[in-house]
Amino acid sequence: MSECIFCKIAGGEIPCRKVYEDDDVLAFHDINPVAPVHFMLVPKLHLPSLMDAGRQHEALLGKMLLLAPRLAAEQGLDNGFRTVINTGKGGGQEVFHLHIHIIGGGNIPPMVRRS
Ligand code: 5GP
Ligand code: ZN
Repeated sequence: MSECIFCKIAGGEIPCRKVYEDDDVLAFHDINPVAPVHFMLVPKLHLPSLMDAGRQHEALLGKMLLLAPRLAAEQGLDNGFRTVINTGKGGGQEVFHLHIHIIGGGNIPPMVRRS
C-alpha cells in the first residue's frame, strides 16, 4: 500500500473536500489554505515531482494546466489566480506527489519580495 498522502486521498483512504475528479486527476481544497480559495490539482498517477515527469506525461500535464482556469472559475476566481508547483526540496516541496496549487480570492502579494 502506498505511504503517499495524496495517493491515499486519490484512493479515497483519506477524506478531502473535493473540487473535481475524473479518471486522471483529482482536485481538493488544501487543509491549510493561504488564501480564501486554495485547492490542489493532482494526477491520480503517483509522480513525485515535476523532476520525475517525462514525455509520457505530456498529455496529463497539459490537461492539468488547461483544467486549472476552468476549476478556478468554478470556485469564483474569475478575475485570476496564482498557480504554484513546488518542485523538490530545493523548491520547498513538502508532499512528494506532484500537485498544482491554485490560489486566489484575497489580496495576493507579489510572489517574490525584493528589498
Ligand atoms: P507543497 O509544500 O508540497 O507544495 O504543498 C503541500 C500542501 O499539501 C500544503 O499546502 C499542505 O497544507 C497540504 N496538505 C498536506 N497534507 C494534507 C492533507 O492531508 N489534506 C489536504 N487537503 N491538504 C494537505
Ligand atoms: Zn502519491
